[in-house]
Amino acid sequence: MSRHDHDEHHDEHDNDEQNENEEAERRALRQIALSQVRQYGDPVLRMRANEVEAFDEELARLSERMIALMHDAEGVGLAATQVGILRRVFVFHNEGEDRIVVNPVLASTGGGTEVDEEGCLSLGPVRMPVERAVEVTLEGVDAHGAPLRLELEGLSARVVQHEVDHLDGKLIVDRTDPESRREAMAQLRPRLVLSR
Ligand SMILES: [Zn+2]
Repeated sequence: MSRHDHDEHHDEHDNDEQNENEEAERRALRQIALSQVRQYGDPVLRMRANEVEAFDEELARLSERMIALMHDAEGVGLAATQVGILRRVFVFHNEGEDRIVVNPVLASTGGGTEVDEEGCLSLGPVRMPVERAVEVTLEGVDAHGAPLRLELEGLSARVVQHEVDHLDGKLIVDRTDPESRREAMAQLRPRLVLSR
């Protein structure tokens, strides 16, 4: 899932040369990372990922790579499906910590639902309102196969619901209201033509 765009405002005094260089470098890194994330229209984004059975070196490398990509792309979550790997793994940023969740299950949801804008690293700059449960209990295992259970609420609960959806081949365009979906499709269609 992508970060909220309105966080990116900068103070005018900050615009000295060094900051401009840092900004240019940050943008370049972000573009490189995004070029490794499958984009809307890619059929792999619609496929269901498979349970992980081997907790080996390859899984460790995959999750490390996904964490690096999530940071460079300035996202708050990334599912393996988005890098073309159909395994039930996602990473997300929770309270200053990077988390790897393998074979995740939303064991319970509560606290009612809330509608908020969501973006996705696979959908470019398009954002749309999505209704999600306010509280979730997430169960799964870590990269070593050790059991994991997280009680989450608010943004973190939203992020993990978004990432579990990816592992089932579901995207936010499937979760939003019909009008927002139409608007999103109008923005996404020209990108599809350009990428052919
Ligand atoms: Zn996403």
